[in-house]
Amino acid sequence: MSDSTKNKGAETMEQDNNLTQCVCEFCGQVLEVDEKVMADANQDIKIAASLICDCDEAKRFKRQYMLSKKGIDMVDNVCGRRSGRPLEADLVRLLHNGVSLIVRNQAVGITLNVSPKEKVELKLGNKGIKCSRTVKETRVDEFRT
Ligand SMILES: [Zn+2]
Repeated sequence: MSDSTKNKGAETMEQDNNLTQCVCEFCGQVLEVDEKVMADANQDIKIAASLICDCDEAKRFKRQYMLSKKGIDMVDNVCGRRSGRPLEADLVRLLHNGVSLIVRNQAVGITLNVSPKEKVELKLGNKGIKCSRTVKETRVDEFRT
């Protein structure tokens, strides 16, 4: 009869599956997102709702959002601090913008010449946005006049 068994020490366990209520901004559906989705959405509740809602608008948003997220990751791996030979922050920002342009179908690819010998290419492939960095090798026979 008495509820002496009421949980007292279970706080940490319960928090694993914290659900946050949100509303899809496209269709108005009320949804619940977990922490993993919130992390994917960079803690933005509106984005989180769009990532899990099954309406067409939200699905399209999700496709673009994930494409852009992966593309930016790719740029950071190839040209950012993670690359071991990072480009100037302004250039990395330019490439991030390039990812957005491709995601929004305003370009299918971008080539950035970072020096006479080195270029970075962004391209939309079947599996998302590819980022490659090429250093041109100087060949002796090209210097003939
Ligand atoms: Zn929706």
